[in-house]
Amino acid sequence: MPRAPSCPVCKAPAAAEYKPFCSRGCRDRDLLKWLGEDYRVPGPPADLPTEKDDD
Ligand SMILES: [Zn+2]
Repeated sequence: MPRAPSCPVCKAPAAAEYKPFCSRGCRDRDLLKWLGEDYRVPGPPADLPTEKDDD
């Protein structure tokens, strides 16, 4: 019984051409989702801790 990866978007069996997604639609949707979240991240960028503040 082969372990077929499942589409992270809709849980359908992944297609070899669009791994790990089942189709171009799901791949695009996932990509847009990440891009959308990235664009919508509010607040300041990375708040780096100051290691040698007292130096
Ligand atoms: Zn899918």
